[in-house]
Amino acid sequence: MIQVFNYIADLQTYLKAKRDSGLSVGLVPTMGALHEGHLSLIRRAKKENDIVVASVFVNPVQFNNRADLEKYPRTPEKDVKLLESVGCDAVFMPSVQEMYPTEVTDRYDFGIIERVMEGACRPGHFNGVAIVVRKLFEIVEPDRAYFGEKDFQQQAIIRKLVHDYNLKLEIVPCDIVREKDGLAMSSRNMRLNDEERAIAPMIYKVLQEVVANVETMSPAEMKALALKKYSDIKQFDVEYVEIADEANLQSVTDWKDCEHARIFVALQLGPVRLIDNLRIF
Ligand code: AMP
Repeated sequence: MIQVFNYIADLQTYLKAKRDSGLSVGLVPTMGALHEGHLSLIRRAKKENDIVVASVFVNPVQFNNRADLEKYPRTPEKDVKLLESVGCDAVFMPSVQEMYPTEVTDRYDFGIIERVMEGACRPGHFNGVAIVVRKLFEIVEPDRAYFGEKDFQQQAIIRKLVHDYNLKLEIVPCDIVREKDGLAMSSRNMRLNDEERAIAPMIYKVLQEVVANVETMSPAEMKALALKKYSDIKQFDVEYVEIADEANLQSVTDWKDCEHARIFVALQLGPVRLIDNLRIF
């Protein structure tokens, strides 16, 4: 039976007993409205830890857009059932008051990795992510925490947070889980209408098509081709396409300057903003 905790103190009492018995703890932070992408993180955590804790918390301080926060899907009862179905041991579902009883004043600066892509388009977003993730790490004290590569830049921010503050845990990156038609799973997908949902797989299809040209195109040519292909789809309103070095998320101008390059996209489709990415090499 999964244990549901709404209060920090209760969760910590539960975890202390587990840790005192020598059990390891894996943490999977989420904002709920769970799908197979989240569940894949739980399954992986379950394989690598004795106890798995998921958190379900729509973190207000990482939203720079009020409407996005208010419309963010919330399905708490279903989330608990799904978590139970994959053997998650405990779920932490705190209120905003429980997480932030006083004004939130922390300010992080992650340097160049937060000045691009999501960091540039969503001011304050990664500061809010860092605040909640650090707090969850301090509450749960996990041995490992699991994050999806769908939010690749977020993962880089969290790695820097762990490194800069000497936090004692391992960050485990997890592959992107996609629908059969290639659309990256996202809680936001449920807000797409039928027409938008039908076109949404093109986000990934275009990434695959352009990446296939790696032997013949420069990064600039590949980026231009992606932008052209996206702009041909009238429902897409592209926010950015970037080709970046995985190590520092800075734009790649010459393939030979980096070991691993990845293409990233953010676009608006109907009422939702969607992101995706694909490793080039
Ligand atoms: P979210 O609830 O969107 O904040 O996501 C919680 C965690 O699940 C983050 O580490 C995400 O990167 C991860 N995640 C979300 N969607 C996917 C997906 N399609 N595949 C893999 N991981 C995902």
